[in-house]
Amino acid sequence: MVKINANYKNLKQNYLFANIAKKVAEYSSSHPSAKIIKMGIGDVTQPLSQPVVLALAKASIEMGDKETFRGYAPDEQGYPFIKDRISSYYRDNFDVDLDDREIFVSDGAKSDVANFTDLFSDDNTIIIPDPVYPVYMDSNLMLGRKIRLLDGNDENGFLPMPNENLEGDIIYLCSPNNPTGAVYTREQLKQWVDFAIDRKAIILFDAAYEAFIADENLPHSIYEIPDAKKCAVEFCSLSKTAGFTGTRCGYTIVPEQLIADGESLNKMWMRRQTTKFNGTAYIIQRGAAAVFTKDGQASCKAVIDYYMGNAKIMTDTMSKLSIWHIGGLNSPYVWLKCGMDSWEYFDLLLNDINVVGTPGSGFGRCGAGYFRLTAFNTRENTTEAMERFLKHFK
Ligand code: PLP
Repeated sequence: MVKINANYKNLKQNYLFANIAKKVAEYSSSHPSAKIIKMGIGDVTQPLSQPVVLALAKASIEMGDKETFRGYAPDEQGYPFIKDRISSYYRDNFDVDLDDREIFVSDGAKSDVANFTDLFSDDNTIIIPDPVYPVYMDSNLMLGRKIRLLDGNDENGFLPMPNENLEGDIIYLCSPNNPTGAVYTREQLKQWVDFAIDRKAIILFDAAYEAFIADENLPHSIYEIPDAKKCAVEFCSLSKTAGFTGTRCGYTIVPEQLIADGESLNKMWMRRQTTKFNGTAYIIQRGAAAVFTKDGQASCKAVIDYYMGNAKIMTDTMSKLSIWHIGGLNSPYVWLKCGMDSWEYFDLLLNDINVVGTPGSGFGRCGAGYFRLTAFNTRENTTEAMERFLKHFK
């Protein structure tokens, strides 16, 4: 008789966004004229930029012509035309040298972050900051791994750090953090790198929001820290950087010098990917490569600036109302203290000002009493939502 992976029974049902949708639908049906402003789900509102659209269109036409049609890619990990652009992006912006063999192009960061756990034995201890992007926890629970949560709170600025008593083998770091928007400094990341090297641990660094960092002193890539190539894998996504949430493209950096338990993780990831993944669509890779051109970078920056303009309106409003908050300066997320249960606050905002956000408790137990608002809505809606906050909470 077939036996299932019983670890799935240990997963909490992910009710967060379903619950939000249900509450919003109920409210809308009893208040049909209410104009609800959604600042909850981390999806983007601005379309793909012109350089990307043109590259996608051109590649689509190539696929319809016998002379330029492409089938399976010779290298499932990405065409040279995109890997070269990604390595130039790292060299020009972060002063980090990457070999093409260290870059693995994928359909987004979520699958890579979740799949990378395949490479490790189930008796590792996993260190996960709390609150954080729920995929780290769930993908390890699915394998029955032992998880050690590191508390984020207002004392540590939601940036938990290692200490000598901390034990663990695989460390997830998300910077800028989803949901708090907090960003590790160079000094803090160096402490994590030193810790990982000392303990022969591996850091899985999620840089999905690096493009939102405005403060030039803050690191975008963990490889800006010396020796990080000996202990860290980096995941990146074009979802928020370039509006690819529906187009799907990301990339993962696995350094050639990264050795775990005597094995090359680069070779293991290559083996895993060539067995279980047949590459990102040619058309999408062409669109993604356009993100890294001069025009592509300028267009993406303009959209990020637009979202960060929204974030500024949000943080200014929170400051005016003396609501404790972080994020919004180097990240599209604003994280605020509710002064009550996160779900009660959700109901209050929905009922009293018709604004929808995400209860912090959905991102971990340390998120209880906090709330996440995103800057991904339009300028008009963000401004109106903040006017409603000002009116209601003054
Ligand atoms: N990592 C973090 C921290 C995220 O917040 C998200 C998406 O919300 C992802 C990864 C997933 O990115 P992608 O859309 O590339 O799968």
